[in-house]
Formats: sequence, structure tokens, C-alpha cells
Amino acid sequence: MNETHPYGFTTTILHGDRQKPIEHGALHKPIHTSVAYGYQDARQLASVFQGKEPGYRYGRQGNPTVAALEDKITRMEDGHASICFATGMAAIGALFQSLLRAGDQVVSSSFLFGNTNSLWQTVSGQGVDVAFVDATDVANVEAALTPATRIVFVETIANPRTQIADLQRIGQLCRARGILFVVDNTMTSPYLFRPKTVGAGLVVNALTKSIAGHGNVLGGCLTDTGVFDWSVFPNILDNYKRNPPLQWGIVQIRAKALRDFGASLGPEAAHHIAVGSETLALRMERSCTNAMAVTQMLAADPRVAAVHYPGLPSHPQHALATELFRSYGALFSFELQDDIDCFDYLNRLKLGVSASNLGDTRTLVIPVAHTIFFEMGAQRRASMGIAESLIRVAVGIEDTADLVEDFRQALDM
Ligand SMILES: *Cc1c(COP(=O)(O)O)cnc(C)c1O
Repeated sequence: MNETHPYGFTTTILHGDRQKPIEHGALHKPIHTSVAYGYQDARQLASVFQGKEPGYRYGRQGNPTVAALEDKITRMEDGHASICFATGMAAIGALFQSLLRAGDQVVSSSFLFGNTNSLWQTVSGQGVDVAFVDATDVANVEAALTPATRIVFVETIANPRTQIADLQRIGQLCRARGILFVVDNTMTSPYLFRPKTVGAGLVVNALTKSIAGHGNVLGGCLTDTGVFDWSVFPNILDNYKRNPPLQWGIVQIRAKALRDFGASLGPEAAHHIAVGSETLALRMERSCTNAMAVTQMLAADPRVAAVHYPGLPSHPQHALATELFRSYGALFSFELQDDIDCFDYLNRLKLGVSASNLGDTRTLVIPVAHTIFFEMGAQRRASMGIAESLIRVAVGIEDTADLVEDFRQALDM
């Protein structure tokens, strides 16, 4: 916004829209519901269609309210450009739809959001080979690379066991080999971490989670950070090479994934997400403080068998998290001693709500093996480090003392 004295994270989000003229001086970008855009000069319509001048064509490919949100996310990630999708999964699916071909290989962290794991299984049945590796060590990633590797995909803090990928070294490896490094930043959000700083070419954000932040809207986003050299990527079609290589990725993704598959974000959803994002930093601060306080209490109690949270010195990647992230995140998981039934424990909570979602203002809890990781079966769960009694906690912004007391009193049988 101001090149010599850049504003802080929240100031930039709050005042970013106004840097471009907004209709009638509105402080929120208005919700534009029109699907079609009329042109007085038919030649201008043709020119917009041919990509020779900017403009809107049809609601599936772009919308002014959605474009304003894309601008906001690009600023948050310090990126080059962003494309929003109807959900986080649609944003991840867009990688497959627009950038991969039969015979290509993807190297993916095996510690993944459950539906992303399922998506990669689907993709493997369609001619793209997916190699799952323990991405907490770059050596495993390097060993899995082949000449056909097009993408390395990792999450920052894995959900639900909170393993942290060897982000810096994987980024260096990808850069040296000319491979696209894609980082799902949902768990950290651009407030805690910018994947661009470790060389990610594309960043995924499930806007549904902490960016929108209130559990009232779905959305996803891909941000091109501008650091990847698309001229070395073999799958760009000639049609999308008319602009400089910096544009190639985003142009092809918008056409091949958004236009052709149509998982577009609606303008009302974009408005909800934009409003929610204004308090991202404030909510993350509180949620991270709460997560730290609750995990410290649980870790000190003998009735708890294990607590997985990057903020605890016992976490295997605690030092790495300290080095990379502004704070340790709002998600943790834990295991109770064998004599405490995890369902009974969850039922004794008065504030923690048994529900699937995260990045909400309310604290949400879920027995992982019996719900979100049920379909994959016990064997694959074990390989991902998921104990059958594991409880995932997505920490909200409640008052810290209330939350600590709730998780403590539920230990009493
Ligand atoms: C929730 C989530 C997604 C998918 O987002 P949806 O909006 O629910 O489709 C992807 N990645 C991570 C890490 C998530 O937590």
C-alpha cells in the first residue's frame, strides 16, 4: 500500500479496498450479484474476452466483490495474484485440474487434512502418481523425487497431529530442481506465516477456517507468490503463454480450473469472508494464547497420555515452529489415559462443542479416528500417527480462564 513504510497486517486489510475507488465511497466493497457484464462497444467485449484489456466476462470466471477479496488475500500473503474458489477443497482440486497431466508425479506430505488425503487417492487412480512421504525431514522428500515430479505439496502444521514440514529446506530443494512447491497455509494463516518466505510458488488457504473465522461461510484460495519460474513448468499450454511467465500459472489456473470446472466463490460469500478477515490477527492472537494455556494444563495432568502442540517444548518440531511462525497456532490434539473414554470426556465439556470445523470463534472438539479419519481405516490412521483415542481441539476466542477450567473439569470422572 505504502512502499516505503508498509503498514502492519491489520491496517493493510482494513484500508486495502479503499486504495482502489469503491462505488459511492462505500467502506465495504459492495456485493455485486450480476452474472453478465454489458459493454457499450462490442469491440471492447471482444477485447476483454481475448485478454487484451481487463474486465469482467461472466460470473463464473470473475466478479468485482470476489476480486476485492482476492486482492486482500494477495496482500496478506505478500503475493502476486490470487484466485478464490467455492471451498478450500476446490482450491486444492484446482491444482490437479489445471496443472497436472497423466504420467506426472506429486510428492505429498503424508500428514494431511483428511479430505486432501482422499483427493490424492482419487488423483492416483487417474494417471497421476502420488508419493506420500514424512515431510518433517527434507531427505524423505528428496528421495521420492523423480523426473516426473511436478509438485511438492505440504501443510504448514498438519491437522490433527501438528507435525511441521521441513518448510525451509523443502523450499530450497524445489527451487534447485525447478519443482513447484505448494503449501497449504490454512493451519497457520498468513498472519502467523507467509509460505513465500520459504520459496512456495503457490499457497492454499481454506478461507472457511481462520480467515473468515466465524464458521458461517465456505471459501478457498490459491495465491501465486510470484517466486516460481513458470517458464520451467512443462504443463503450460501455448494459449496461456502470451503474457510474461509471471502470469502463466494464474492465467491457466483461472481458465482450466475455475472456468472449466466452475467451483466459483459467490459474491455474498466473498463479502462474509472479507468482513471476517478484518479481525484475523486479533482472533489468532487470542486463540493461540488459549491453545497454549489449555495444552500447558493438560500436559501437566497425569490423566492425559499425550498432548500434541507445537508450542510445547516436548513437541518434536518446537524449535522449528519458533523459528518459522509468529505463534504456534490454534489447533492441538491429545490422548487421554486408557481408563478415560474419549466420548465421555467430550460429553463432560460445557464449552468445547463436539463439531467438525476449525478456525471458528468457538472452541470445537472432535474424536478424530471415529469421524473425520474414519473412512481411511485403522491401518492408514496408524501410518499417519493417529491414535484411536485422539481428540482434536480447534481453539476459539473464549476467555482463557473459562476454557482452561472447562478442559480441566472434564478430566474429573
Ligand atoms: C478445512 C481444510 C481444507 C478444506 O477447506 P474447505 O473449505 O472445508 O473445503 C483444506 N486444508 C486444510 C488444512 C483444512 O483445514
